[in-house]
Amino acid sequence: MTPDLRDDGSAGPVSGQDWARAVELISAADEIALACHVSPDGDALGSMLGVGIALRAAGKRVTASFGDRRFTVPRLLRFLPGQELLADPAHYPAAPEVMVTFDVPTVGRLGVLTGNTAKAHELVVLDHHPSNTGFGTLNLVDPGAAATAVLAEELIHRLGLPVDKDIATCLYVGLVTDTGSFRHSSTTPDAHAMAARLLATGLDPEKIARELWDRSPFGYLKVLGAVLDRVRLEPEVGGGLVWTFVTRADRAAYGLPYDEIEGMIDVIRRTDQADVATILKEDDDGVWQVSMRSKGGVDVSRVSAALGGGGHAKAAGFTSHQPIEETIESLRALL
Ligand code: AMP
Ligand code: MN
Ligand code: MN
Repeated sequence: MTPDLRDDGSAGPVSGQDWARAVELISAADEIALACHVSPDGDALGSMLGVGIALRAAGKRVTASFGDRRFTVPRLLRFLPGQELLADPAHYPAAPEVMVTFDVPTVGRLGVLTGNTAKAHELVVLDHHPSNTGFGTLNLVDPGAAATAVLAEELIHRLGLPVDKDIATCLYVGLVTDTGSFRHSSTTPDAHAMAARLLATGLDPEKIARELWDRSPFGYLKVLGAVLDRVRLEPEVGGGLVWTFVTRADRAAYGLPYDEIEGMIDVIRRTDQADVATILKEDDDGVWQVSMRSKGGVDVSRVSAALGGGGHAKAAGFTSHQPIEETIESLRALL
């Protein structure tokens, strides 16, 4: 089954010519290097591995990676098929013939793989961030797509490759995470139609949901308890700000890895009295990774961009080297 296409053969702002060029470039290459953004989420890793499995089945040599200084796959995403395609950035091709990026809006979000793009002969960018800077030699960017996985599915179809259950599992993880389990406004008829195509391969949605959202080490509950205990509501800031933080020490007390705390923002953002929810997460290097969510009153991608980060209108983030109180003060000023 192929996705619904417009009269001109495109499924969005990506032109039929650009798709044809991508197919041409990828078909002609023996070796393809794939990369997604640092601290990969379900869409970044799922899109990349889905395409990676399809290309490997087509006989290509595939390397897939992401540029975190400490290269580890988040525990939540280790159930994804195709992990054997992943390589530490240290073993990534220095000058790839064809490099394809997934869910990466700015070249810096490739982390330690940023430099590899400069030497790539062709750089194909697959993304759905409205803020994408078009840093590729070929940019397949559709801000109307619910996930990069939507573009990944179309690329696979256009290459004439089949989507088996493993590929579908990867793409479904991208779709289901970026639509917030089909709750966000990106939940279009097309998003559900894509889910139907993927489910038809026999993938296990119950297992995927359990792996992504319904399990964690016991320490998660203890750290969540501490994080909720110190949460602050500032109704006078913007349309209301609710915020909290997680320190390295909080996590160390219960042996909780950094990537386990990603879902906590979804608890914080429930707050009726706040349009914006923020959580500051201290990583293993002592740097603060800040996650922001909005109900729509504020475009948090603009706030995050003003502080050196980026993202989407309702979900964005930035990195801070300041103490907690100073970071929050900057946020208050912008909100
Ligand atoms: P997160 O809060 O980590 O789930 O990220 C939400 C959105 O913000 C994603 O689209 C990310 O790409 C973006 N984002 C998060 N952190 C950063 C950062 N440090 N720099 C740029 N974009 C970010
Ligand atoms: Mn992402
Ligand atoms: Mn995405």
